Amino acid sequence: MREKADSDLVRRQNRRLVLDALRQHGPLARIELGRQTGLSPASITSISAQLIADGIVQEVEDQHHQQVLPMRRGRPLTQLDINPKSAHVIAVKISIDGVEIALADSRGSMINRSVSRIATYDAEPATFGKAVAAEIGKQLAKARVPARKVARIGVAVQGVADSQAGTIVWSPAFRERNIPVSAVLQAELGIPCSIANDANMIAEGLIGTDRERYGGTAAVVFMGYGVGMGLILNGQVYHGPTGAAAEFGHMNHLPGGPLCRCGRRGCVEAYAADYSILRWASGNADTLPPSFTAIPEDQMQALEAAARNGEPQASGAYAKAGEALGYGLARMLALLSPSRIVLAGPGTRAMDLIEPSLHRALEDGIVDELRRNLEIEVVPIHTDMIIKGTIEGALRLLDREVFAYGGLGKRHLTLEEIA
Ligand SMILES: [Zn+2]
Repeated sequence: MREKADSDLVRRQNRRLVLDALRQHGPLARIELGRQTGLSPASITSISAQLIADGIVQEVEDQHHQQVLPMRRGRPLTQLDINPKSAHVIAVKISIDGVEIALADSRGSMINRSVSRIATYDAEPATFGKAVAAEIGKQLAKARVPARKVARIGVAVQGVADSQAGTIVWSPAFRERNIPVSAVLQAELGIPCSIANDANMIAEGLIGTDRERYGGTAAVVFMGYGVGMGLILNGQVYHGPTGAAAEFGHMNHLPGGPLCRCGRRGCVEAYAADYSILRWASGNADTLPPSFTAIPEDQMQALEAAARNGEPQASGAYAKAGEALGYGLARMLALLSPSRIVLAGPGTRAMDLIEPSLHRALEDGIVDELRRNLEIEVVPIHTDMIIKGTIEGALRLLDREVFAYGGLGKRHLTLEEIA
């Protein structure tokens, strides 16, 4: 029995290695797949035959080769790639008054997407999940994809999500706390579902785009309607036991500071989120309550323009944001020593206004030796990052929990089998 269990484990690990290499570098010829995974030619032959028989991987002709050498005789070079029809995944992004749903194939290509206006702030915890499930049902019907062909739903939410309980613990998008999501979607649609914080999903997306660059230890800071962090430890997004790890935005910057949307005072977010910067610019940061509605982008752009024109209240607000971020990052560096900090999100549009005070705070907050090998980068702003990352995260779970074992027919596994 023991030997059988060991060989099953090796088989699953090898299947995951092959799938991982194809996701990162595919399509690949078998010989190249061997180089990427370190597996022997015999193992590659056997694992790829299993994956093809399960419908997860398919053989494709090397298009490039065909074009370059159209007169070449003999067999065209075959490559292996993930079969896009082997399964589907759904990404759901929940933010203030909007639920975005994207359907993707198992190679991660988006099939369709929609944005529904669902009033979140006054939503009833008992009915919210059902409303989202109904929207997903509509989208599947439009794409003519039956629910049984969908292997996973990944949900990204602004705020704190409990991945174990499958709930939104707290989010600025909702008045109520502990809103059930995963279990409702699973019961309504029959599709396994997981929920996570949206900044963690940006981190998943970055790992997917460049494993070499983001595969070590890195912190991804989201700046915009809130301040969030996705923490990558040894190549994996660290969620903590309940999914609430790395709540950088709600780390305290100054005790007794301005009120944050979480209900506490002086969080990093109360200085560096868009609503906070706007509030500081108004000059009443200590008395005004935080805003619970989305700030229109043109309003923030007008504030950036005022700051660039030297308007002191506006430029001062961005300096405060940079200072809170810089001291917060210095504390995080002292704890975890990441080699890379990635700043992302619409808030990075004002990087020129934030950067000087951020760097001053970082230099003041931690000794030079502890930030010597640190690289700070700003990734280009695109709003798709959360949806794309959620798809990437769902595909990684699909590989680990389903494709490592077999095709989609085997997806109803017990928790013991998955572990
Ligand atoms: Zn807070």
